[in-house]
Amino acid sequence: MNDRLLAVLATANPDKVAEIREILQDTGLYLQERPTGLGEIDETGATIEENAILKARTVGEYAGVPAVADDTGLEVASLGGRPGVHSSRYAGPDASYADNVNALLKELAQVGVLDVADRGARFVTVACLWMPGNEVILARGVVEGYITLNVAGNGWGYDPVFVPLEGDGRTFAEMSPGEKNVISHRGRAFRELASLIKKKYGQ
Ligand code: IMP
Repeated sequence: MNDRLLAVLATANPDKVAEIREILQDTGLYLQERPTGLGEIDETGATIEENAILKARTVGEYAGVPAVADDTGLEVASLGGRPGVHSSRYAGPDASYADNVNALLKELAQVGVLDVADRGARFVTVACLWMPGNEVILARGVVEGYITLNVAGNGWGYDPVFVPLEGDGRTFAEMSPGEKNVISHRGRAFRELASLIKKKYGQ
């Protein structure tokens, strides 16, 4: 354990936990599960950076150890960058993944954006390591793509309607976890975070 940094993971979302663990498996970052006693954190930040720091700091202060968090937004160009920081609650406060996807497809249809060439979008993730004493390290990951007309595949979040430009036309939901992580916003943000941590702490 001497050559590894122990941090607590701020998210309890099983879809995100699985991805983050796979992305970080060969790094020196050893991640513990989120403490069960801590309630939900209100994501009151105006930006994804602010929300990533807020989540990492809240969990780190609660657990008394370094904490790792991420926040993600889907930015759709023809919607002025929405849902953005509101991606998890686009269709309302208790929206399911399917509710959010349907709201997005409906809104794009309502504004008449029906050609995939006009449905450009990108996922942006900010990953954050918070250290006791309040130091933070931030890393950003982006993947460009477009929103399909219909859902394809069984992935989580907006994966069934997002096709990355670097892929072969399949949605993220149609790819294996490994294929997604190589090019995804979260893959990029966490690999960059792991590299910054290594540079700074020599892990
Ligand atoms: P969060 O801020 O990381 O919790 O992400 C906000 C919302 O964005 C989630 O509730 C998902 O709907 C969506 N989201 C985040 N990451 C992904 C992803 O990798 N694929 C698809 N949707 C995602």
